[in-house]
Amino acid sequence: MIIHLYNTLSGKKEEFAPLKQGEVSMYHCGPTVYDYAHIGNMRSFVFADIIRRTFENSGYKVNQVMNITDVGHLTGNGDLGQDKIEEGAQREGKSAEDIIRHYSDAFFQDLERLNIETAGTKFPRATEHIDEQIELIKKLEQGGFTYKISDGVYFDTSKFKQYGKLGSIDIEGQREGARVEANPEKKNPADFALWKFSPDTSEKRQQEWDSPWGIGFPGWHIECSAMSIKYLGETFDIHTGGIDHIPVHHNNEIAQSECATGKTFVNYWLHNAFITVESKKMAKSEGNFMRVTDLMKREIHPLSYRYWLLTSHYRTPANFTFKAVEGTQIAFESLVHFVARYSGGKIKQDIINDILGDFQNDFNTAYALARLHHLIEKEPTADAAATIVAIDSLTGLSIERLAKEVSSIDSETTALIEERKRARDVKDWKISDSLREEIESRGYMVSDTPEGALVFKKLSSLV
Ligand code: AMP
Ligand code: ZN
Repeated sequence: MIIHLYNTLSGKKEEFAPLKQGEVSMYHCGPTVYDYAHIGNMRSFVFADIIRRTFENSGYKVNQVMNITDVGHLTGNGDLGQDKIEEGAQREGKSAEDIIRHYSDAFFQDLERLNIETAGTKFPRATEHIDEQIELIKKLEQGGFTYKISDGVYFDTSKFKQYGKLGSIDIEGQREGARVEANPEKKNPADFALWKFSPDTSEKRQQEWDSPWGIGFPGWHIECSAMSIKYLGETFDIHTGGIDHIPVHHNNEIAQSECATGKTFVNYWLHNAFITVESKKMAKSEGNFMRVTDLMKREIHPLSYRYWLLTSHYRTPANFTFKAVEGTQIAFESLVHFVARYSGGKIKQDIINDILGDFQNDFNTAYALARLHHLIEKEPTADAAATIVAIDSLTGLSIERLAKEVSSIDSETTALIEERKRARDVKDWKISDSLREEIESRGYMVSDTPEGALVFKKLSSLV
């Protein structure tokens, strides 16, 4: 089965050729667990899940790794500023360990809400791989790619001729000059820290380790190289992350990995575009930071958010508004209610093949969803319902489970439905209409069909 992927490295859509026949190895940059992940972050995690499902449904064995950053990611997103975990600990007056545990738990809870498969995925933590990171830095030191200055050991980007091959180097982003001063001791502006020394102040870091260069902690980028090489090998198939990682983090991962091993690090680099809110980046400082639980407070089911994500292509920025997601929740609900109506149909294999083809074509999820809606309009049958359920292993929308949940009606509502039927039988439309309103006010949707009234819960009432 042929899969086409858009590779940031070549700037083209390419046919996927695995390193090992029938297997795919992939690494995803995961969350920095100093705060809650927002719904923008969720796009990159849902995207990783969609890639996994596409390969699994295409017959591949998937080796998947997503890291948990629990040290070394600095507030400047470069080599200066405070460690985000230490900052979180100070902010909340807790230990680094408590911060990591709390926000990792919240992260896994969100993955579950969005039906992101985790059972077969490894989630290594940076703090549990300090030795591997030190070993990698030692290799780079032996190869002459490093130098030491007062605050740490740095990678000398001038020693790697292909530095920046993934895309433009955002020098400004690296310096982070706006909030913290650039480091004048660096040889080249793009050079980055591999190991940082603990500051020489009375304030002791909560997380620090001994190393051949002195007590300190690893730079942010080295964890991804060390852990991906450990679990997937020196060369692996696919690496993903949000587009913000292209200029710095991923160029740095390539530089340090390829200089340490002498091999190509990754064959296919995939990046998702951002979720914006009113066309602005989602950030605490913008006041538009939103979590999955914030959507739930507005009666948006997490799987409706997943559905909304799939309605746009992962490489296109998507602008979040409550109105847009509420609208897609209604479209999604129509699929769920449709499946709830029928049972015992036969799967339409031609539709399954077409939809798998959409996913294999650089994850054209929007087209796949449009096909499902076309199907229920054109052929509202039990076969269509069985097909939608079968496609769930690709879309991950949990439609079968939701169809069961919307069909569970409490006894009081069942009594109202019976009463309404009796009113309709004697053509008492006034009573029938007021009973409909009452049933709907309880979170149900009523549709009258030639076979009688169909009553299902609304997705908003499952939240
Ligand atoms: P972080 O926790 O900041 O390291 O980010 C985790 C992942 O989310 C990374 O792959 C980021 O590139 C990605 N990401 C961050 N913000 C957004 C956003 N607004 N939209 C989509 N992806 C994002
Ligand atoms: Zn990474």
